[in-house]
Amino acid sequence: MNIDGSTTIVGIFGSPIKHTASPAMHNAAFGAFEMNWAYLAFRVDPQNLRSALRGANDMGVIGINLTIPHKIMALDCIDDVDAEARKLGAVNTVSMEKGKLRGFNTDGYGFLKAIKEDFNLSIKGKRVLVLGAGGAGRGIAVKCALDGAARVIVANRTTARIEPIAQEIRGTKTEFLALKLAAEDIRKVIHEVDLVVNATSVGLQEGDSLGLGADLFSPRLHVYDTIYRPAETELLRVAESAGAKVANGLSMLLHQGAKAFEIWTKRKAPLAVMRRALRASVYGDKS
Ligand code: NAP
Repeated sequence: MNIDGSTTIVGIFGSPIKHTASPAMHNAAFGAFEMNWAYLAFRVDPQNLRSALRGANDMGVIGINLTIPHKIMALDCIDDVDAEARKLGAVNTVSMEKGKLRGFNTDGYGFLKAIKEDFNLSIKGKRVLVLGAGGAGRGIAVKCALDGAARVIVANRTTARIEPIAQEIRGTKTEFLALKLAAEDIRKVIHEVDLVVNATSVGLQEGDSLGLGADLFSPRLHVYDTIYRPAETELLRVAESAGAKVANGLSMLLHQGAKAFEIWTKRKAPLAVMRRALRASVYGDKS
């Protein structure tokens, strides 16, 4: 990659920013179209987010992805936040257009594309149990409601964190229920849902356990874990052993990235190229 004054720059702000697979995915897409664009990762401390976004804009950067906590803080730093991003409570994609910062959320879109691709499941009329009420949990729960889920249940360790999600979903036609994230509470509702989503960070570390046994799962359930590294969390292992259909978060990462690519470049994302680059970066796949 030869970066000079004619190279169009996009990138990602994180704190920390190690192990991100996004540069591999986006740079492969630019390469496929022979575009003189580069996607770079920048470490930005949270207190510097506002000045870093302004500085990037002044330098002619035309797009930025944001990770936690920046994606939540950005709601207060950006001129023009898309209405859906505000409801989802996070901006993960910024586009700099004519010197103005515009904020979008492509995570919710990425999640719905992922369950369509992995399970052939459309969210309309479905009953969903979301584990977690952080940035990812809120985005997924609210997006499911906005796109016509019949029922959304959110279970979180800290139940107070569910309230902002409840407020957003109460304005839709979707039924809503808040739960404590504990096996005995999950047992009462899991038989009446179609899809379970892990949006907690439990599973990222070796030995992590949500404490949900195989007896809770059945072959009619779809279980999606937003975690993609490791490829198989304990939740997916346990659910699969009970016959449930399972998928990990790589597809969500791919589709949120594809949507960001389309916002910045106004071109259709080369999905096969991006998927291959992502799998090579995350799992070392050579195919
Ligand atoms: P976050 O805002 O920090 O939220 C973390 C969530 O995990 C909260 O619900 C938290 O519960 C819960 N949690 C943490 N430790 C726990 C424990 N020991 N027991 C029970 N619950 C626990 O983080 P986030 O941005 O939402 O990210 C959550 C997950 O989503 C991460 O694993 C991330 O990798 C994944 N993600 C994937 C994609 C993708 O494209 N595939 C995109 C975004 C995020 P409390 O509220 O009780 O602390």
